[in-house]
Amino acid sequence: MLERMKDFDENYKDIKERMSDAALKAGRKPSDIRLLAAVKTVPAEVINYAVSQGLDLIGDNRVQEMEQKRPLLINEPEHHFIGHLQTNKVKNIVGKVDMIESVDSLRLAAEISRQSAAAGTVSDVLLEVNIGREQSKSGFYAEMLDEAVAEIAQMGHIRVRGLMTIPPICDGKEKNCAYFEQMQKVFIDISGKTMDNVNMDYLSMGMSDDFEQAIAFGSNIVRIGTALFGARNYNK
Ligand SMILES: *Cc1c(COP(=O)(O)O)cnc(C)c1O
Repeated sequence: MLERMKDFDENYKDIKERMSDAALKAGRKPSDIRLLAAVKTVPAEVINYAVSQGLDLIGDNRVQEMEQKRPLLINEPEHHFIGHLQTNKVKNIVGKVDMIESVDSLRLAAEISRQSAAAGTVSDVLLEVNIGREQSKSGFYAEMLDEAVAEIAQMGHIRVRGLMTIPPICDGKEKNCAYFEQMQKVFIDISGKTMDNVNMDYLSMGMSDDFEQAIAFGSNIVRIGTALFGARNYNK
């Protein structure tokens, strides 16, 4: 565990520097870009240590894992849900996370709104965009977004705060860049249309291998797991 904490210290410092450099290179303010730590498979002890070192935003992928670890967190930072969410699990997380970044269908949005109403709250969400149009991934196609946002804006207890994406894995970084560039266009486009209950504050994109390119194309939340905590143990 000690070893993991030492690794975290180095990784955290390194990533913050690289984020800052990427921001400056893009003519952006480093403080405008948030680091979200993707904490799947990371033990609560390590998360607690990371938070003690200044980490202020974490993201979980699985409802069950989140529920198990949550009571073990000493100072819970801002907490986002970033994984695929089944409609029957919505009631478990509404009112318990600060944002659901992975809203990938109107059906899911409607259920979030319904459960939020029941819980007396309004849920902040990002819409997940399937920018690479991959069959294997969920999310809205870019051309469906206008209509989806308009429809979600009518739902009473959900507030759209931006967009999230996981672009296709490519060998060359150039190609990834094209997806980030497309996302930036989509984001700017939709930000220009004003709607009630919609504030396009966040563009969440970029992970361990590509966050610098994502920052170059306007990302303001990068979601990083491996580069902060080391390789995940997939057997768990
Ligand atoms: C795991 C995960 C990340 C972080 O991925 P790394 O490559 O480990 O940095 C980011 N976003 C989502 C949605 C994830 O599930």
